[in-house]
Amino acid sequence: MDEINEIQKQQPVLTDYFANVIMQEHLAHAYLLTGPKGIGKRTLALWVTQGIFCQNKTAGSPCLNCEECRRIASGNHPDVVHVAPDGLSIKVEQIRFLKSEFSKSGVEGNQKVFIIEDADKMTVSAANGLLKFLEEPSGNVVAFLLTESVNRILPTIVSRCQLFELAKPTSAQLTATLRKTGVTADKAIILGNLADSSDEAKKIATNEDFDKLVQNVCVWYLHVLQDDARCFVEVQMNLMPLVNNKDDEVILLNLIILLVKNSISVYYGEKDNIFVKFQADFTELIEKLTAEKVTEAVELVLATRKRLMVNVSFQNVIEALTIDLSQCYHS
Ligand SMILES: [Zn+2]
Repeated sequence: MDEINEIQKQQPVLTDYFANVIMQEHLAHAYLLTGPKGIGKRTLALWVTQGIFCQNKTAGSPCLNCEECRRIASGNHPDVVHVAPDGLSIKVEQIRFLKSEFSKSGVEGNQKVFIIEDADKMTVSAANGLLKFLEEPSGNVVAFLLTESVNRILPTIVSRCQLFELAKPTSAQLTATLRKTGVTADKAIILGNLADSSDEAKKIATNEDFDKLVQNVCVWYLHVLQDDARCFVEVQMNLMPLVNNKDDEVILLNLIILLVKNSISVYYGEKDNIFVKFQADFTELIEKLTAEKVTEAVELVLATRKRLMVNVSFQNVIEALTIDLSQCYHS
């Protein structure tokens, strides 16, 4: 419920838009909502669904309190059907079930809503099944397809949906949200710049090794900037022990990307407001570099991210990056 209360603040443009469409009864048959994990796609779909069914709506916005609103929020509304991947994919049987549910709506004339989470995970046959359904919409049906990556949805499906991208919160908004939940100022600034959504940031914040990882990667970067050979050993000694899975790998690499990108801002005279504890040390060293070097360093780390998509050892990749960065900064 809290999330639904927040969605109007987090996505004011979209909630205003949908409230207006509900008021004017101009809903489309299918919407595709895209945006990173945790951005509120599902919450927005539920909020619009509540707006459709609510008995006490105000200018298209749901009251969140009536029986209809409550049943939708708790996932117990008979005319709202959720589909999510069963295991790794959404299978054709799940889409068939959806169709059978909705063939009833044609008979009864009821408003129905279906919400497909991770719509990119539909198998080809499921996607084709859905496509037929979208081509011949029956009765009062509204579909919400949710995805992190619109590129992985069949173009024929995309073309039959109205596409909406949920806006990412700014770093400052994220930092403020984290501060409210009791995260310390220094950490909230780093997380606000590191994460794409408050869910992601909160999840990282609960990682017990995160503070240590930040500390260690900052020391590592300081040594890279100082041309201090300890940085080569530190990958194995101080960074890898804190990286236990793919999620940790992404966090570490994103921290490195943040450090290197932030060095460009520092080089051009902006204050380092992200890695506050290391601000003075970083600034002194970065000012001695050249514009070419700080730019090339960003290219190096971004290339590293690509390299990780093919299956190579994470430690090897970070060690290679350490060598490349040192050469970039000091040759
Ligand atoms: Zn209501």
